[in-house]
Amino acid sequence: MKSIAIFIERRNQKICSVGLELLSETKRLLKDSDNQIVALYLTDKKTDEDINRLETCGADKIITYVDPQFQTYDTLIYTKGLENIIKTNDFDVLLLGSTLIGRDLGPRLSARVHTGLTADATLLEFEQTEERLNLLATRPALGGNLFATIICPDHKPQMATIRPGVFSIEVFDNHKAEKVIFEEKILIKSKVEILSKKVNETAYVDLTKAKLIIAGGRGVATMFPTLKEIALLTGGEVAASRAVVDQNIEPKDRQVGQTGVTVRPSVYVASGISGAIQHMSGMDKSEMIIAINTDPNALIFNVADISIIADANKVLPLLKEEIQLIKH
Ligand code: FAD
Repeated sequence: MKSIAIFIERRNQKICSVGLELLSETKRLLKDSDNQIVALYLTDKKTDEDINRLETCGADKIITYVDPQFQTYDTLIYTKGLENIIKTNDFDVLLLGSTLIGRDLGPRLSARVHTGLTADATLLEFEQTEERLNLLATRPALGGNLFATIICPDHKPQMATIRPGVFSIEVFDNHKAEKVIFEEKILIKSKVEILSKKVNETAYVDLTKAKLIIAGGRGVATMFPTLKEIALLTGGEVAASRAVVDQNIEPKDRQVGQTGVTVRPSVYVASGISGAIQHMSGMDKSEMIIAINTDPNALIFNVADISIIADANKVLPLLKEEIQLIKH
């Protein structure tokens, strides 16, 4: 039996979705095997609610490590915590979210335990041989012009960070997990003292949770006020291509794609977006894609369920009027 460990990231005392996404996807990929999926739950305060979520999202075993120093993310403390667990468990694979925390923690930890790490993967596969369970982690390479599948055949655990929002969360009813408490003390103290916290006042939007996304690209750069009105009327969120973000029309947290966020909403409306691979790798798993573009050969039409070959500057105001009529 091989084991796949998944770091369960927490922020503001809450489990982040990426850990649950990784549990669910690993469970789906390995459902017909006897391999064990292990959730690594580092917390200052264990809750039954958290444990239940990890269990129903596919964890076969939950290792809970409670320490007051896990209250707020701290690079050295979390690295030490995971290192302690890894050194007493023979994990074959270790997965983390490719978030600010995962990107900080993953490389430091891989150096600490002398293994390899694939950063920012967007696809996971497992290959079972008699001796090993190989992780095949795929990520965009060479500026996103090709995808590279990376393996780490000689070291363990094989590590990867995976982008949030790539996989869906699934609930496996009646799934039960073995629960273990990890007791080793964290013998180091944080070198960071938090003097105060200030909440970022800009209205941060988690696009990965949006069901409807109204996205615009360079072709509709002047139409963002209309896109925002449509989003407001429909309960959607506005997103943008990098071309728009680079022009400071929209903030970086609205950028979809390889260097932005990965989204999979029920509906993604792409106006004036050409469909560069770096954009599409962040939205091509949306359930329905509606594309509006003047160019009939635009690549975005290759992934669109509904293709509107038209001037979006004319279509969008009409769309807004229609929605207003329906709502009144
Ligand atoms: P363009 O490619 O210029 O396309 C504009 C489109 O609008 C065209 O198809 C045109 O036909 C259409 N159009 C023009 N006028 C109208 C109109 N009136 N009505 C309807 N359609 C119209 N890009 C991202 O988006 N996200 C990323 O995360 C990202 N990461 C990158 C990472 C790297 C390493 C690199 C090298 C690039 C990255 N890019 C990313 C950039 C990407 O390659 C493209 O340059 C970018 O996505 C293009 O944005 P766009 O489609 O808005 O603009």
